[in-house]
Amino acid sequence: MTAISHSPFSATVLGLPRVGPRRELKRATESYWAGKIDAARLHETARALRRDQYTELISAGVDSVPVGTFSYYDQMLDTAALLGALPDRVAGIEDPLDRYFAAARGTESVEPLEMTKWFDTNYHYLVPEIGPETTFTLHPDELLAQLAEAIELAVPARPVVIGPITFLKLAKTTGAAALDRVGELVPLYQELLRRLAAAGAAWVQIDEPALVTDLTADELAVLRGVYTELTASANRPAILVATYFGHPGPALEALAGTEVEGVAIDLVAGADVADVAAVPALVNKLLVAGVVDGRNVWRTDLDHALSTLATLLGSANSVAVSTSCSLLHVPYTLAVETQLDDALRSWLAFGAEKIAEVRVLAAGLNSGTESVAAELAAARAAAASRKADPRIGNAQVRARLAALGPDAVRRAPAEQRRTLQQGRLQLPPLPTTTIGSYPQTSAIRLARAALRKGEIDRAEYVRRMRNEIGEVIALQEKLELDVLVHGEPERNDMVQYFAEQLDGFAATELGWVQSYGTRCVRPPILFGDVSRPAAMTVDWITYAQSLTDKPVKGMLTGPVTILAWSFVRDDQSLADSARQVALAIRDETVDLQNAGIRIVQVDEPALRELLPLRVADQQAYLDWSVHAFRLATSGVADSVQVHTHLCYSEFGEVIDAIAGLDADVTSIEAARSHMEVLDDLNASGFDAGVGPGVYDIHSPRVPGVEEITGSLRAALEAVPAERLWVNPDCGLKTRGPAEVEAALRNMVAAARSVR
Ligand code: GLN
Ligand code: ZN
Repeated sequence: MTAISHSPFSATVLGLPRVGPRRELKRATESYWAGKIDAARLHETARALRRDQYTELISAGVDSVPVGTFSYYDQMLDTAALLGALPDRVAGIEDPLDRYFAAARGTESVEPLEMTKWFDTNYHYLVPEIGPETTFTLHPDELLAQLAEAIELAVPARPVVIGPITFLKLAKTTGAAALDRVGELVPLYQELLRRLAAAGAAWVQIDEPALVTDLTADELAVLRGVYTELTASANRPAILVATYFGHPGPALEALAGTEVEGVAIDLVAGADVADVAAVPALVNKLLVAGVVDGRNVWRTDLDHALSTLATLLGSANSVAVSTSCSLLHVPYTLAVETQLDDALRSWLAFGAEKIAEVRVLAAGLNSGTESVAAELAAARAAAASRKADPRIGNAQVRARLAALGPDAVRRAPAEQRRTLQQGRLQLPPLPTTTIGSYPQTSAIRLARAALRKGEIDRAEYVRRMRNEIGEVIALQEKLELDVLVHGEPERNDMVQYFAEQLDGFAATELGWVQSYGTRCVRPPILFGDVSRPAAMTVDWITYAQSLTDKPVKGMLTGPVTILAWSFVRDDQSLADSARQVALAIRDETVDLQNAGIRIVQVDEPALRELLPLRVADQQAYLDWSVHAFRLATSGVADSVQVHTHLCYSEFGEVIDAIAGLDADVTSIEAARSHMEVLDDLNASGFDAGVGPGVYDIHSPRVPGVEEITGSLRAALEAVPAERLWVNPDCGLKTRGPAEVEAALRNMVAAARSVR
């Protein structure tokens, strides 16, 4: 084998989306699961998608192409498979693809791996389980096959793997501290490097996003040790360590002190040129400068990026232009969007447009700005149009926010509110309720599709939705729940539904982004000042309330969650955007109150997700997010009961914030953690109403009365009866109607017997 050249490259991206521009992989994978196509067809779809991506990248002038960021489900799961760390419970499944999917989504008899958020993005990864029984072994065939396929297509391929530090820190380890196992992984990575070099890879990218979180001195020492050992191995490709989603902090110095040939730095979310200049040892490395935002949709300020790049050339001998992170987090291309107005479109860059920006910047850096004068002028014109657009600054919204005093986020003391509310609601002890949504039946989905295609008119759509609401109210009456909901049939998605009705947001047609596996979302784009042209939920909720004497909750999504699940504007702080959204939600709660609604619920399932990765940044976030929630919920009278719902039970750093929300009732997930979370809540000083989910809605299993009674008794150990509510742990939209009815019947029976 002849020696491979490690010459630096000039233009790249850190990773690629994989679901396909028209979600082709999603469709093929689901067909495979349904037994409609075989594995060969699935592989062929995947191959064709990769081929198209490579062609696009090469014709755009990218001279180093990431290979191996393709995945049939998730990159952490791929890494677990690569390192022989799939859980034992799937080992009996013969076929490797089916074994892989079993670990991802479970089977009748096998529990899947847990899923959680990938850093502070909306992408979910599968959490590898590493126990004393795990023996790591290398299985590089899939990656080698993708490499061979790329080389065959004459692609300048740079294989990508998740690094050992990130893999272990993100896994669930039992029996030892996570990084204690790193010594077992190093020889496997060394072997992998050897195999990749032998297969023709000149560079390998090792992703270590965990380096942008707070690392202890010991962890930094491990980092240094690992990369010293990896670089010491013979016959290896040049190593690019990729950090992203924030500032690598002291990890940058640690990496610079090793022999790695390149470091990728996120210059959008994290570091700036001064941080790089402060680490002189970077001078001999290839600096892969993430100046094009890989996770938001705004067009790059090319002048600013070029000046960043030029300054970096003073601190490193070679600089390559890149996206700040993988393009996994943005839609494929703007080209297919037909509904965006020209101004808005000119402010945006999706995947394909970002790749073009990378090329322009590389050309500007290497051949002078004159060579890209036209592109620079276009970017400047777009930026000017964005600044001047009246939708960006709504004087009325700004004046209202400026005029709000401290009383705007204050309600009467909780005890006082409790008395007023109880007087009005007359609820029994241990009131029963649900989180909001009822099963999204195919009738509901068909009606929505028919409306979109113009097959039915708005009046017919409303008629069908009201029909659904009527059925959900009747069911709840029959089951004798105490606090009812309308079931949310009219909501495609809890954020999109509101974004579509608020000024300042735009929707895409094909802006799909992978959320996990084959599930994709289409985040709305928050581009301007937010205002509410008309009430958004009042008709539905009052209709539901007209069908029953029991209180119906008005259901809203909170400002933090709306931001977390949108692409947000980058020209003002998140805190400022949150206040604008909060004001719109506040107006809605007041309208609901004025229409006679006695309870409003403002869901904030994403409160914890947006928590900054570094501890030093967390308090400021918690301050503004709690403020935004209170702004959204303090406009109503003290006699209106405010509920919130949080989708998780591991509160960790956000626990104090939950009491700070000052909601009258908070429903949380607790079934899987056996109510232990209630003690943590109490310890944080929380003393309002709480509805710890008494059964897990993520499973199709119907819980028995005994089991729910047990959960309630456990909850009563921690929470006095006056504060305890009885509810499932999340919305019911993904469940089947029969299961839901049976489970709720048992829940009501359990509440009765405990009363
Ligand atoms: N009210 C929403 C529902 O029931 C809450 C969803 C969520 O927690 N993500 O569907
Ligand atoms: Zn939930």
